[in-house]
Amino acid sequence: MNGSSPDGKKFTSHKSSSSRKNCSNSNHDGNEMGEPKRVLFPREKITLEWRKISAIGSGLQNLGNTCFVNSVLQSLTYCPPLVNFLISHHNEHASFCMICVMHRHITTALMSKMSVIQPNYICNRLKSIASHFTFGRQEDAHEFLRYVVDKMWRSCLSCHEKQYGLPGLVMKSDHLTKETTAINHIFGGYHRSQVSCMQCKAESNTYDYFMDFMLDIQNVSSLEQALQNFVNPEFLRNENAYKCLKCKKSVVAKKQFTVYRAPNVATFQLKRFDSNRTYTSKLVKFVTYPETLDLRPYMSEK
Ligand SMILES: [Zn+2]
Ligand SMILES: [Zn+2]
Repeated sequence: MNGSSPDGKKFTSHKSSSSRKNCSNSNHDGNEMGEPKRVLFPREKITLEWRKISAIGSGLQNLGNTCFVNSVLQSLTYCPPLVNFLISHHNEHASFCMICVMHRHITTALMSKMSVIQPNYICNRLKSIASHFTFGRQEDAHEFLRYVVDKMWRSCLSCHEKQYGLPGLVMKSDHLTKETTAINHIFGGYHRSQVSCMQCKAESNTYDYFMDFMLDIQNVSSLEQALQNFVNPEFLRNENAYKCLKCKKSVVAKKQFTVYRAPNVATFQLKRFDSNRTYTSKLVKFVTYPETLDLRPYMSEK
């Protein structure tokens, strides 16, 4: 699945005035990303440090091929901004709500006196989280994480919708507005893809919302190298040449991805599946990562 965008939308802005009229998004200024029309949850209300320190919570029993569930739940249970948000902004909702489900799991795991608990509350709701998941079958942890975060995001949107009391106001708003829930402020960031014409130097920027870094690891042995490869520029030429709207012809152009806005909690997916035409194999090599990662070398503005 593609987990990089909650609703799969992106938009482009252009610096050269001749191309600006071709831009589908009017919510921008020059080459900038633009602003949401409305902020659903103030970003400054997200606290990155634990608001309340509790003892280490319970372990999770494997209920039969549920290690993918347990590993994701344990990571989220010790993610301070998420736990702070779930504890302080909780309502009991009658219909399925991922915020309520996660609130219940995390408070149970952190408050329980038991050394091990069964994650039944989540496992019994697998179909509501992702309809193609089957209890008892081995599933992919990263995919499960994406569905859990996506469902929490959707639950936040419907909460905000009820809060405004105007049906459709939130759901039909611009995607930048929909990317201002607490879940977006915790896990979301923006990539910038910049194409620069090598002749007239005009730059065209596209901003993509993402919730994880999907990194190729084929030729790398560390997370930093994988990130460096991610931001290394490529040149568009010959059959891939770029049609510059200012030069009005196909030209050689430089294309580069960078991190425009870093997420508060970054998720890295190492692409371990190597597919060619005949078979898919798994890359089982070690990839090192530092205890403290400096994202500055990979940012749009250094
Ligand atoms: Zn709820
Ligand atoms: Zn040009």
